Amino acid sequence: MSKRARSVLGFFVARPLIAIAIAAVVVGVLLLGTRSQKTPVTHRTQHVKLTDAQQSQLGSRDYAKTLRQNRPRIVSSGPQYAQVQRVAKRIEAVAARDKPDFVWKVTLLRKNVANAYCLPGGKIVVYTGILPLTQNDAGLATVLGHEVSHATAEHVAERMEREHLTEVAAAIIAGGVAITPAQYARIFALVNAGATLPFSRSQESEADHIGLVYMARAGYDPHQALAFWKRMLRASKGKEPPEFLSDHPSDAHRVERIRGWLPEAERAYKPS
Ligand SMILES: [Zn+2]
Repeated sequence: MSKRARSVLGFFVARPLIAIAIAAVVVGVLLLGTRSQKTPVTHRTQHVKLTDAQQSQLGSRDYAKTLRQNRPRIVSSGPQYAQVQRVAKRIEAVAARDKPDFVWKVTLLRKNVANAYCLPGGKIVVYTGILPLTQNDAGLATVLGHEVSHATAEHVAERMEREHLTEVAAAIIAGGVAITPAQYARIFALVNAGATLPFSRSQESEADHIGLVYMARAGYDPHQALAFWKRMLRASKGKEPPEFLSDHPSDAHRVERIRGWLPEAERAYKPS
């Protein structure tokens, strides 16, 4: 062994954590090959490296943490719980046709915040604060259809790719280590997009389109989505616009685009 090789080896022997981190990155990179695939409904070609299983692992880790931190807020009975389970079950069944390997699950948290999100891999969180805005099953199906579409269209994985963070994410999955704490934090901020970070405008629009078709496939009248977004548009002009609207600005343009996708959604609509 050369002197240089010996000193490199000595460096890692003395610093096992760094050696593990580098090994994890190497493993992560070796396991990654770009997949070219089409998004559901919109048929857009996308290139992602994280597999469905890897995305599920990231999402599940974040979900477990959220449940741990919010245990007293978890709603597990009553009419609101029943409604969320009922609607989510139908939306999940539709989304599962596009992502059979995701493990779908929904949790309702008692929080006076008008928001809901779906993590990569199919774990959904709904806050009770959004239910006065969704008003009925079809309104809730509009929100859930939109949120699960971010997961089935792999928007988080796509964004990690764009930010050159896929290898870091793979390293975290492989060995639980990141290169720096800042990168670790960035990965989980992205995983938690929808709760902490807004998606891009084009991803939002795509989730509207896919979500509209999903709710119709699940047996909800897609015209109700238009009614929901019009309610949002009115709410956005109020004194205190709901949190949901900070990431989902409801302008006349959004409502118009949704109207444009209605004929496609009507064809997919099978009243239950
Ligand atoms: Zn969204």
